Amino acid sequence: MAKQSHLRCSFCGRGRDEVKILIAGQEGHICENCVEHAQDIISQELGLKQGRFEANTPLPKTTTSNFKLSIKKPKEIKAFLDEYVIGQDDAKKILSVAVYNHFKRVSQKQQIDEVEIEKSNIIMVGETGTGKTLLAKSIARLLNVPFAIVDATVFTEAGYVGEDVESMLTRLLQNCNYDVTAAQRGIVYVDEIDKIARKGDNPSITRDVSGEGVQQGLLKMLEGTEVLVPPQGGRKHPDQKMIKVDTRNILFICGGAFDGIDKVIARRVNTNAIGFNVNKESQDYQRNNLLQFINAQDLKGFGLIPELLGRLPIVTYLNPLDRETLRSILIKPKNSLMKQYNKLFELEGISLKFDESVYDFMVEKALEYKLGARGLRSICENILNDAMFELPGSGKKELHITLEYAESMFNKSKLSLLKVA
Ligand code: ADP
Repeated sequence: MAKQSHLRCSFCGRGRDEVKILIAGQEGHICENCVEHAQDIISQELGLKQGRFEANTPLPKTTTSNFKLSIKKPKEIKAFLDEYVIGQDDAKKILSVAVYNHFKRVSQKQQIDEVEIEKSNIIMVGETGTGKTLLAKSIARLLNVPFAIVDATVFTEAGYVGEDVESMLTRLLQNCNYDVTAAQRGIVYVDEIDKIARKGDNPSITRDVSGEGVQQGLLKMLEGTEVLVPPQGGRKHPDQKMIKVDTRNILFICGGAFDGIDKVIARRVNTNAIGFNVNKESQDYQRNNLLQFINAQDLKGFGLIPELLGRLPIVTYLNPLDRETLRSILIKPKNSLMKQYNKLFELEGISLKFDESVYDFMVEKALEYKLGARGLRSICENILNDAMFELPGSGKKELHITLEYAESMFNKSKLSLLKVA
């Protein structure tokens, strides 16, 4: 016991009789007060590192911004999009004009009595993998504004498991290093907007937490309001610090596949999507092209609420990708897959050459396996993977891909087993 009374906390120096608990380590001791104090320091440090912003931690700040808005004329916007996106001329034109008008509106000096140009958010309808995201991304790149892609399916009505709609602005803030001024004239691409369509005609029977509730949540934000944004996304909680973001000048572009909307359109335009009175080719053409007639009424029929549609006044569509378009996607865009692979091999000192028939083969497989434009990359990867493994360091200076080689590589790949019936 006598020995015990000499013990002291190695951190604060208090003696054994001045503290309640003294925990022994290998060469020292720590008292309960110092443990508590250390715990505070740890929470503060980790809280910052993991991005939790509690009541007394400072919000992230930025000083300078690389985002200097450069407004381009509609024709310039379209010409730029042409470099990256194949086809989709209607969507490109509509987007070019809408985006030009939007930024003209943003840069307009507001004077009393002046005509106020209303915001024109956009909705794009088209099968998955037809270039919706690519279009939105390319526009943001051209205009040099912050850009964020968010998925509408992660949002749920407040009070349920999921994220608050406000957290889509978190992504935008993060992408411009919390430069609020730049974020306030950024572009947000909301993907899968069709997945928050109201389910069924009578929403009152069951709670529709991820459907109509989320659409309601989006309304104010799309229209333009001051939103309190949780700096790290997720759910808001009471003792969290928020960043105030004004959404009046943020352009929202929504996109969705709206599977089955062709039938809604067909019903409206008073034709039958299936039973055209002409030959099969013409039927297919009409079926594929029904989207060109799309309007807000069809989207309402699909389950988007009228208030939301009112805030998405510009409706456009993307065509499904046919054989010819897929082939062009492979070769033509400024950073097409073929150009990317050529570059990869070039960096290795190897010149890569494809037979034309290999392009047709890849397109054929993308169609056959229903992989779309996204699948072209996996097909290329499967064909070239062995070569990319073997060639570096082999001293070989040239690689010539013949149809035979492509077929054999593809057939032995796992991808070839995935054929959809
Ligand atoms: P989604 O319509 O589902 O948003 P994406 O824009 O993400 O489709 O397209 C997926 C990928 O397919 C793109 O990254 C691009 O490589 C390619 N792609 C799709 N459509 C086109 C197109 N029209 N022109 C060029 N590339 C395209």
